[in-house]
This record gives sequence, C-alpha cells and structure tokens, in this order.
Amino acid sequence: MKNYFNTAAIYARVSTKRQAKEGFSLASQIKACKKKASELGAINFREYIDETSGTTLKRPALTKLRNDIKKGDIDIIICYDQDRLSRKLGQQLFITEEFEKFCKNLIFVCGDYKNSVDGRLSYLIKGAIAEYERERILERCIRGKKEKFLKGEITNSHLFGYKYNHKKKTYDINEDEANIVRRIYDLYINGMSSRQILMLFQAENIPKFFRGKSVGWNDPSVILRILKNDSYTGVFHAFKHNTPKEKNRYKDKSEWINIPIPAIIDKEKFELANKKIKENTDNSSRNTKRIHLLSRIAYCTCGRSIYSRTANKKDYYICASKNYKKKDESEYNKCINSRFMLSDKVDKIFWQALCKICISKKSIEDYINQQKSDIKIDKIILQIKNIEDNIIKKKKEQSKIIEWFSSELIDDNVAKEKLEKVNKILISLKKQKEELEKSINIKNKPEKIFNIFKNEKKITLEEKRSLIKKIVDKVYIERIDNNKNSKMNISIYIIFK
Ligand SMILES: [Zn+2]
Repeated sequence: MKNYFNTAAIYARVSTKRQAKEGFSLASQIKACKKKASELGAINFREYIDETSGTTLKRPALTKLRNDIKKGDIDIIICYDQDRLSRKLGQQLFITEEFEKFCKNLIFVCGDYKNSVDGRLSYLIKGAIAEYERERILERCIRGKKEKFLKGEITNSHLFGYKYNHKKKTYDINEDEANIVRRIYDLYINGMSSRQILMLFQAENIPKFFRGKSVGWNDPSVILRILKNDSYTGVFHAFKHNTPKEKNRYKDKSEWINIPIPAIIDKEKFELANKKIKENTDNSSRNTKRIHLLSRIAYCTCGRSIYSRTANKKDYYICASKNYKKKDESEYNKCINSRFMLSDKVDKIFWQALCKICISKKSIEDYINQQKSDIKIDKIILQIKNIEDNIIKKKKEQSKIIEWFSSELIDDNVAKEKLEKVNKILISLKKQKEELEKSINIKNKPEKIFNIFKNEKKITLEEKRSLIKKIVDKVYIERIDNNKNSKMNISIYIIFK
C-alpha cells in the first residue's frame, strides 16, 4: 500500500471490564491501531473512543467520527477489529459502507478484509458470530436470572421497608423503614390523603434513603407507590418485565415468579388501602369536571391544548405537555411555557378582556384587524414553520428507514417498529399544524360576534360558557411573569369563530 495517508482516525471501543481483562483494553487497541497507521504512513492521529455497548449506533465518538469523515480531511480509519465497530452484522455493514463512501480506506488491525473475497466473507462471518454470541449472552443472562428466581433468590436489592440480605439473597425486614410503611397504611386507611401524609413526614423530618443517599419524602406518588405495592403482604414478584430493555412492559401475571418474603402488612389492610385509593381517584376525576370558562378552548402557545388540573383544592390550567413523561417529550415542539395558572384568575382576566373587545362592533373589528396584521410575526406562524420543518425531518427519517429495510440493514420487525413510531409523531405533528392553521382563519363577521355578545344573557358561569362557545374558537394563554407563585401575569389571545 502506498504512503499517501496523512491523517488517521483511530476508533476504539470497550463496553465492559471483562473485555479489558481479555486484552481488548483501550490502551492496547489504540497502541495497535497507531502502529498500523504509522506503518501505512500516517502522521496525524485523531482518537475516537467509546466506552459503550457495541449493539447500538448511538455512540458519541462513533457519531463524531461519522460526521468528521464527511468533512473529507480524514484519509484513513483504523480500527482494531470488526467487533469494535459494531456487534451487529447489519450495523457493521452499514458503517463500513458509509465509511467507504466518504473515506476510501478502512483498515482493521486484525485482518485485511477488503482486498479479497475471502476477507469480505470472513468479515461477514465474524460479524454474524459476534451477533450470535451477543444474543446468547443475553439469553444466558435472562436464563440465569430466571433460575435464581426459581430458587427463591432475589436479585433486586432495593425495596423500601427491607434490607437486602446479600448472603441469602433475599429481603430481611428493616424495622425502622417497615414501621414507616405500616404507619403510611394506617394513616391512609384512617382518612389522610397521600399528600397529607407526605406533608406530615416532611414536618416530622422522617428520613428516607435510596442507595445510601438521603432522598427524603418529596412526592405524594412515593406514598401511593408504597400503598399499591403488594410485595409488603409477603410476596415479591420477580420476572415481571418482558426484556431488560423494556422495563415498562410487564409479562402476563401467570409468568411472574412469586418469591415469599417476610410480610410487613397483612392482606386485609392492603386491600382496604387499595379500595380507598380507587375511591379517591374516582372522586377526584369527578371533581375535575367543574366548569371553567376556558375548558376545551384554551391552548398553549406551543400548540398543545391546555387542561385543568386540581392541586391543593385549587384548579389550575396547564399545558398538556406537563402530562407527558419526560422521555415522551421529544425534541420536536418542546413546550417552554408549561406553568401552572390559577383557573379562576385566568377566567376572570379572560372574561374582562372579552367584554372589553366586545364592547362595540368597531372594537371587535379593530381586534381582528390587529390580529391579521401582526399574524406574520406572530408566534403561531413561527410554530407552524417549526412544525413544518419537523414534518420534513420525520419524512426523511421515514424514507431512510424504508431504504435501510430494502437494503436489508434492518429486519422487518425493527422497520415496522421504527415506522410506527415515526408515523405516530407525523400524525400528531400534522394535527398540531392543522389546529394552528385553523386558528388564523376567522369566519364570522365582527357584526355577528357583536350581536351574539350583546343579546345573550351572561350572568351565571353556564351562561357565560355557552356564549363563549358560540363566538370564541380558541384562546391562547401564556404566563408571562417571572414570579414563582405570587402575582400571575398572563397574556391572552382570543381567536373568534
Ligand atoms: Zn405548552
């Protein structure tokens, strides 16, 4: 091979300590790669080092390398062997193709794969074996865990109320914590709410530790989780989850392995508490059906709807994004404004604003005209543009998945799963866009709005609500103050029907 290489990128990866012991250590990989690069005449070295699993392409250093080679100033990529690149055959091929497209030289220290048919084949076979081994390791791992569970051994070592007995691999009661668990059940059964119990614990400074760190009592859901966990009646459920990756998905109950542990709460008490939880949630869902002037017509400036939530016996409006779990809040259309707004106060401000606008035909006309003129720079337009960009991005992603699938880089299950995910996001984006676009079209004439407003009785909440329904299509509300709780300042943007 000629010495025309100047800059060499060295890619190294370790995922476990075990590998380090078996001679795959980063230092030894880098050393071997540098030696190879020097032999080939490279002068400059750039190191790309990942310490993650080789089953995913989402590795920081690999991602950086994939971006850097597109810039064209890397002449050669050196890697210890194919497994370092990826432990999945499809991914190995994918990266190899990509590397070769932008930088013609990919060299493995162990084996020159590219110059012969044999090399290509051995590369493929090696990749297949690496993948097969990974599957086997995973399977062995699950099987091993299951065997342990069947023997009555518990591998999970954190359950409040217990201390893990490392020798016997089971739970012993931690009396201090168990007393707190018992107290929670008693307090709840005797009528305290989870929030009240939380406040009591905070007032009494009751300690709570997790992995040796003091975490305190900071969320009523922690109390509820303890009340709902039937492990406290003396049965620990193991083998509940489907795969190690999908922690949220439970297996069918019949597959669970039930391991007896010392009970802290008797069954009757547990059932009593859980009956109460059910009653309380039923009641609270009835409570939220109180009438608010803006329910179903209020929107956040992020495009999502705003809904009512009750906390401390007060009702608040809040952007629907608050309802998502963090992982669902993807990078598209993030809400930067999801703050609680006292419903009564917002209703009052809104009603005053509406009355002021509807004082005459002229004032309604002015409001709508003003809206039309600032709509070009308005947030709504920006939002639409933002959503459109995201739709394009997602569509590209869609065709990429199809491309991967048709070139057999991913199998049909993976493709299906990926496509479904993208489609779901696309549908929601399109819906958001439609909603926003609708908001710019006002159909009614100011005169009609004015006549309805003038003629309808509007004293009770119901009367106001029915009037609003006739003339108002949407109301964008946004909290614009910086105060944490005291004075609330909101901006209101009314879209007439
Ligand atoms: Zn929002």
